[in-house]
Amino acid sequence: DFLFKSVVVGDGGSGKTAVVVRFSQGFFQENYKLTIGVEFAVKTININNYNVKLQIWDTGGQERFRYVRPLYYKGSMGCIILFDLTNRESFDHVPKWLEEVKKESGNIPILLVGNKSDLIDERTVSLEEALQISKDLNMFYVESSAKNGNGVGDVFAILSLLMIGE
Ligand code: GDP
Repeated sequence: DFLFKSVVVGDGGSGKTAVVVRFSQGFFQENYKLTIGVEFAVKTININNYNVKLQIWDTGGQERFRYVRPLYYKGSMGCIILFDLTNRESFDHVPKWLEEVKKESGNIPILLVGNKSDLIDERTVSLEEALQISKDLNMFYVESSAKNGNGVGDVFAILSLLMIGE
């Protein structure tokens, strides 16, 4: 069995907290930040016959506080870089987040996540370009929606497999 600390980073508003809450608590709620203040969530999943206990640190709300983020990175075994598929700027900032992750955490497994896949009509980043950048930057890529739950389980299953090394 495993216990892994992981960290979720990315531009503010991309859905980091929403994805972590959806995964750990199973629901989506607009404006939950007003009601739930969590720094990290814990959830155990079973994958490849391993029990993997994930401690997921959510940097949502800390995007502008560069000086506190080292705390989130410290001891992390894996990282999710999350952007908003409907917000081009959040996608353009992915290399900047990658640079910070590498600086703080070295060579840990990193999963790139395009969130808000439910907002099909508002999408401004195509699957092809997301796959291309993930290939160029040597990351895995998956899409999710905290709103309808699609892909959220995959995000943490894939990250767990990467951290286990399978
Ligand atoms: P964070 O700043 O990265 O933690 O982002 P939040 O989790 O606070 O989400 C920002 C906003 O996007 C909130 O209004 C959420 O309700 C909304 N949101 C987050 N994920 C999704 C999603 O998958 N689909 C849709 N439609 N809205 C989302």
